[in-house]
Parts: sequence; structure tokens; C-alpha cells
Amino acid sequence: MAKQDNDTPPPLPEPLRVPVADSHTHLDMQDTTVEAALAKAASVGVTTLVQVGCDLAGSRWAADTAAAHAAVHAAVALHPNEAPRIVQGDPAEGGGGLRADRSRQAARTAGGDAALDDALAEIDALAARPEVRGVGETGLDYFRTGPEGTAAQQRSFRAHIEIAKRRGKALVIHDREAHDDVLRILREEGAPDRVVFHCYSGDAAMAETCAAAGYFMSFAGNVTFKNAQPLRDALAVAPPELVLVETDAPFLTPAPYRGRANAPYLIPFTLRAMAEVKGMTEDALASAVAANTARAFDY
Ligand SMILES: [Zn+2]
Ligand SMILES: [Zn+2]
Repeated sequence: MAKQDNDTPPPLPEPLRVPVADSHTHLDMQDTTVEAALAKAASVGVTTLVQVGCDLAGSRWAADTAAAHAAVHAAVALHPNEAPRIVQGDPAEGGGGLRADRSRQAARTAGGDAALDDALAEIDALAARPEVRGVGETGLDYFRTGPEGTAAQQRSFRAHIEIAKRRGKALVIHDREAHDDVLRILREEGAPDRVVFHCYSGDAAMAETCAAAGYFMSFAGNVTFKNAQPLRDALAVAPPELVLVETDAPFLTPAPYRGRANAPYLIPFTLRAMAEVKGMTEDALASAVAANTARAFDY
């Protein structure tokens, strides 16, 4: 393949004939205005977006953006990598905070728990807003956060499950290298009626488990990657009525544009690759995905 210029946005794909939603995006991390992103996405048949907050500021922004744009729905949460930062007194400072020296960490834990409770109370209040259709992304991330953050992540995850159930919103799960604990905690707490595994990363056996529980599985651009056969095997067994598509933009740009910035208008590349895996026509899968996303987020 010719060498790509990674600063050049990928070209517009051929429009979908049946419009779908990007079930998980981060417009606040993309180098564009909301209006421009929505117009570009709509021009290729991506007519609805779920804007996902990862911290308090991002969650407020998601709710406000959804209130201002009919095509946008919001999900609000403290990301699993954010919860330990709050407990340790280093919110939004990045991974360095997690490596904070242990004595400092111990001294802060009591106050840190209260800080996490305060942050969760604000998420709860945001979750009551009508334009907020989901609580997430929450869950567990054992890849980015080390063992010192596990307790905070699990406490935060349990609290988000409770909020989603009480507010009647979808639970949006971020699960990175934590499949068994995510499924166990969902069982222990009792899952909300609607659960979405965002950027689904389990294997085919886990897809059967999710299907049996009625959990939605949202596939991102990495399903197109050459080395992602286990993910395609999972998609192959996932029931069509539980499959969603997402960008997780600006991350996980689908092939053949891996390495460039992702955006909602690139959904058609991922959806077409998924249709091939499912042995469905593009239109049939798009119809299913559109209906599934509306059901998952109750809009
Ligand atoms: Zn995530
Ligand atoms: Zn995300």
C-alpha cells in the first residue's frame, strides 16, 4: 500500500442507503465543531450519535450538546480510568497519577472516597436529564489501570450500575482485559434492562454469554483490523438483534485508514466489513443496527 499521510482526513465513504447511529463517539476529542461533524456524518447516512462523557466536565458537555442537537444523545459517567484518579486526588492528570507514591495514596484514600462519592452524585444528577440516554462509559480497565486502581474502579462501576437502574438508562460498559470481573459484577449487582458492551472485545464464547443475557454488543473499527479474527468470530455468533456499530472516535479508525483520526462519518467502512462477516446485505445489517441502537438507548 502507498504510504499514507496520517494528517489527511480519510475520504467520505459511499453513503449508506439505510441510515444508522454511531453508538459511541467522543466529539469533544475530535478536531472539529459539533455542527461540522454532524453534517459530515449525516451526508453518508450516519444520522444519530451517542456522545459519551468520560469525566465530570465531559459528561456535562455531552448532556448540553445532546440538549442542543436532536441528532445527539448523551451518556454520562466517570471512565474506569478516571475513578482511581479521583480517589487519588489526581483527576484528569493522565496515567502518571496512578503511579503516585503509595504513602501519599494511602493518606488520600479516605478523602478520595468522599471525592468519588461527590463526583458520582453529580453523574447521578446528570443521568436524570431527558437527553441523557445512557450511563457510561463505566466498567473496568485492567490494561490502562494497575492493581492499585482496581478497588476504585469496581466501586465506581457498581455505583454506575445502580444509577443506570434507578434512572432507567442504558448501561454503557468499557471492558478492557477485565471480561470475567465485568460479567461477575453485573451478575452480583443485577444488570439494568439495557446493557451495551462498547468496543466489544470478547471472544465468541463471551458473545454467547452476552447474547444469553440480552446484552448489546457494539463493534468498533478494530473489527476491520487484519489481526482481529477473534473479534470477527465473536461478531459472527452475535445475534443480529443485539449488534451495534460505533466509532469510539477519535480512536480505532477502521481499515484501510488505520492511523488517521477517526470520526463518525467513517461508520460505513466498519458497517460494510461487519455485513460481510455476518453474511448479511449492507441494508439488512444497517436496518437491524438502526433499530437496535434506538432500542438500546430508548430514543
Ligand atoms: Zn471505552
Ligand atoms: Zn469511548
